[in-house]
Amino acid sequence: MKHPLIRWNPATKEHLCPNCGRTSDATNIADAQEQLEQHNCEIPSVEAPRAEPGMKTVRLNRKSQKRSL
Ligand SMILES: [Zn+2]
Repeated sequence: MKHPLIRWNPATKEHLCPNCGRTSDATNIADAQEQLEQHNCEIPSVEAPRAEPGMKTVRLNRKSQKRSL
């Protein structure tokens, strides 16, 4: 189980993982968990040191290439 805790947010009617902030619009906790398990529980890199813009672009390009395959 990648996400240790999944909560229901009545305000947005979404399930969310408070750890990584990922949300699922599934109303059923089991469905939400299944959706969230497709992604790693990674904390958004807001607090991480800023990478150089060039490096970021390279990363994004690699990601999109993987998706298209
Ligand atoms: Zn998570």
